[in-house]
Amino acid sequence: MANFRLGTSLHYNIDYRKDFVTVRVRIAPSPTGNLHIGTARTAVFNWLFAHHHQGQFILRVEDTDQERSRQEYTDNIQSGLAWLGLTWDEGPFFQTQRLDLYRQAIQTLLDKGFAYRCYCTPEELEQMRAAQKAQNQAPRYDNRHRHLTEEQRQGLEAEGRKPVIRFIIDDDREIVWHDLVRGNLTWKGSDLGGDMVIARIPENSEQSFGQPLYNLAVVVDDMDMKITHVIRGEDHIANTAKQILLYEALGATVPDFAHTPLILNQEGRKLSKRDGVTSIDDFRQMGFLPQALANYMTLLGWTPPDSTQEIFTLSEAAQQFSLERVNKAGAKFDWDKLDWINSQYLHKMSGAELVDLLVPYWQEAGYPINVDSDRPWLEQIATLIGPSLTRLSDAAKESVLLFGETVNYSDEATAQMEQEGVKEVLQAVLEKIPPSSQLTEEEAKDILKQVTKTFKVKKGLVMRSLRAGFMGELHGPDLIQSWLILNQKGWDKSRLTHGLS
Ligand code: GLU
Repeated sequence: MANFRLGTSLHYNIDYRKDFVTVRVRIAPSPTGNLHIGTARTAVFNWLFAHHHQGQFILRVEDTDQERSRQEYTDNIQSGLAWLGLTWDEGPFFQTQRLDLYRQAIQTLLDKGFAYRCYCTPEELEQMRAAQKAQNQAPRYDNRHRHLTEEQRQGLEAEGRKPVIRFIIDDDREIVWHDLVRGNLTWKGSDLGGDMVIARIPENSEQSFGQPLYNLAVVVDDMDMKITHVIRGEDHIANTAKQILLYEALGATVPDFAHTPLILNQEGRKLSKRDGVTSIDDFRQMGFLPQALANYMTLLGWTPPDSTQEIFTLSEAAQQFSLERVNKAGAKFDWDKLDWINSQYLHKMSGAELVDLLVPYWQEAGYPINVDSDRPWLEQIATLIGPSLTRLSDAAKESVLLFGETVNYSDEATAQMEQEGVKEVLQAVLEKIPPSSQLTEEEAKDILKQVTKTFKVKKGLVMRSLRAGFMGELHGPDLIQSWLILNQKGWDKSRLTHGLS
């Protein structure tokens, strides 16, 4: 028999540290896709809650849907959580390795009369739904096999029908719980769609009841793993109502529930693939740092006590985290804020820290670099461009001057280069650059001064034109420093005038 929890009932406003009840929470992803931003944010809130209460954070892989579950997704979920710093204390546990536990629970429910075998065929269920639709009723199972006699059952079995197991849901029941985010919630039994299927028999199986379904497996696991708080997305609220009935039927303590708001796009709809990204891998490839993305996710639905504070590590956020400060309203995904947070982390990193993160982006841009022999030089570049980066992926553009063979000129840069007299100014600068690779900052500044004087132009014009010629942009890392780094390597000076017509 499963190790069902028989502890005393927990009340939602207990101070868990004071009462020495160990908080145990879990993230329970289904490996039917890569780690999704919504799952990752739920994992963040669970992690913060566990760490705030010095509790345990458990990883459980809900892989009972064998047709859609894949090993590569399990790997992706684990590596994504680890990348974000969301370390788990126990697991990963796999539901497919725990089937006996669910079968024992199903047997208990059958033995106690809380569940029964239903022999309806898909065609019969379809007819039932069509009739309900014709009468403008919500689709539901009409519980027709709840009270079959033994004789009827045998007759249906003799026809070769395979049953599903249904759990009895009393239409008159009101399910009430205090949600730690949403307050008191009530759900009517009659709104749960009739007696619910908790197990099916897979095709070609000889088992008398086979595959447990989500609601049953979740409850058995949360009981067995002694989960104290179930923190998950608000799309699970109706499941919670069903699950509370299962806890009761299995004679277990009901955990506390907290339903977190959905992540919305700018139009206020659920963030989806159509918004460009949904998986954590997408964010990694776009050049976000894990610590910045984790930081941003803490703010996706949670407001810290000091609402002006926006930059913190997961551990710092955990110290302040409470479910009371999780918002009920959907959390709008704000790209500008994520970019800003990412830039804050990037700007604090040294060249030595940054260089390994930037190398893949330089390589992807096709820049000819030798990671070993060029390292000191690459580190200088990382130091130089660090303060100009918003995402790691900006590295290619920000260092085009230092690696690029060809420069793409923006309209602004072209307009700058085409101003009267600019070509002459740039040529004069080029002529003055000494052939040796050792150009000092003073010498570079001196060249600019001389040219400014000779042509009687403003220093700003020379600087802007140089930048446009070098980089094809009017914004970017420090120009003189870029120039010095460039000179160390030796470079084709004619590049500066490529943009000139
Ligand atoms: N496997 C479910 C999901 O990925 C878990 C939901 C829960 O936390 O109970 O949505």
